[in-house]
Amino acid sequence: MSLRIVILGAGESGTGAALLAKEKGYDVFVSDQGIIKDKYKSELQQNGIAFEEAVHSLEKILAADLIIKSPGISDKAEIIKQAKTKGIEIIDELEFGFRHLTGKVIAITGTNGKTTTTLLTYHLMQAAGFSVALAGNVGESLARKVATGSYDWYIIEISSFQLDGTKTFHPEIGILTNITPDHLDRYEYKMENYISSKFQLVRNMTERNFFIYYADDVIAGQEVKQRTIAPVKIPVSLKDEACQAHYDGEKMVFQFNDDSFSVRQSETTLKGPHNLINTMAAVSAVYLAGAKVESIRAGLKTFKNAPHRLESVATIKGVEFVNDSKATNVDSVVYALGSYTQPLIWIAGGIDKGNDYNIIKADVSKKVKTLICLGKDNEKLKNFFSAIVSEIKETQTVKELVRLAMDSAKQGDVVLLSPACASFDLFKNYEDRGDQFREAVLELKREVEC
Ligand code: ADP
Repeated sequence: MSLRIVILGAGESGTGAALLAKEKGYDVFVSDQGIIKDKYKSELQQNGIAFEEAVHSLEKILAADLIIKSPGISDKAEIIKQAKTKGIEIIDELEFGFRHLTGKVIAITGTNGKTTTTLLTYHLMQAAGFSVALAGNVGESLARKVATGSYDWYIIEISSFQLDGTKTFHPEIGILTNITPDHLDRYEYKMENYISSKFQLVRNMTERNFFIYYADDVIAGQEVKQRTIAPVKIPVSLKDEACQAHYDGEKMVFQFNDDSFSVRQSETTLKGPHNLINTMAAVSAVYLAGAKVESIRAGLKTFKNAPHRLESVATIKGVEFVNDSKATNVDSVVYALGSYTQPLIWIAGGIDKGNDYNIIKADVSKKVKTLICLGKDNEKLKNFFSAIVSEIKETQTVKELVRLAMDSAKQGDVVLLSPACASFDLFKNYEDRGDQFREAVLELKREVEC
């Protein structure tokens, strides 16, 4: 009789795990306590995979030899407790996918910068001609990739939740971009639990593997010193010239054994100090995977980041419009402001999650000539910045927003949507906000150029 695998949760990772389990010939059952999205339901049906929705049937689940749970399901959920009591092995989709893959893995984690670093690493690996798949939080689940193809390399974006469910998982090359307090509700509000979770990345790595990390990060830097870490450590720094990948104030410098090369940020498509870190991490990984420096250089010139992250939408009469709608907190705005030297028309506002605007006060006063508030309630922004920014406007529609911005801008200025706030007051989510902004900018461009 074949092994019975029960999969809890039928989102991208659960469905991916189900496809892989089916492909490997296991007896598969999927259970989701909510309603399963149509596209996943039809995939399960087409592949003859048994499932249930809006319910967890205890006896069916507890008959499992192995449970694969969605990373969204906490260890404290009742069903997980019961499965543990029965001694059933419980893993995440990432671990399951890893157990069945034959290639090598580059895994990227961190509080911020995961998606950018993952996409850049993937792009550079492709440019270097490797057989490579993109998986994890960005794009398709690892299990789906393993079920539907075969690659030499898998580039995976991993959240701390996913790392929590791993056991044997170990990348060839691991990247840790940074660690700042986040998702603490999941970790009993203990920072050390969150940190331990991130460091599961290196738990099973060996001396033959590489661990790339941002050494200036207070927490990551300190933890690396205190912990026993088996893989070869490759620190990335914006200031420390002793680090194998560092920024010397003008260029990114890479030193690997006898090989040394440097790249200016102007030779890449990414802007801002945060992207120096992401670029140094990705370049180091791809170099260590065996890519030639020339192909890395070429790849850096053609990379296109995911939308809503300092995305240059269009230039109208010499005014560049930038969509950074993903910047939903004030920390992200620090990086956005740091990315430009031109005068800024800054668009901010939405739902404030307790922002302390003091951290951007100096930069705003230096660079921002107009602030346009885009929110239902703009009082906090207006009160804070009225003494700092000479012109403040407000609106609740994106169409009017781009016109107001154009009216205030001169040739050479940058209009920067980097809201520092969540978007739910006026939009569905940050993607919706960014998409509407892009549409309105392109419409304005068509009108102006007609
Ligand atoms: P994630 O996938 O971890 O959310 P993204 O690459 O999507 O990261 O970037 C999200 C936001 O985080 C960006 O808009 C930027 O403001 C900020 N960011 C990106 N890279 C870094 C970094 N290395 N350090 C700090 N903040 C960063």
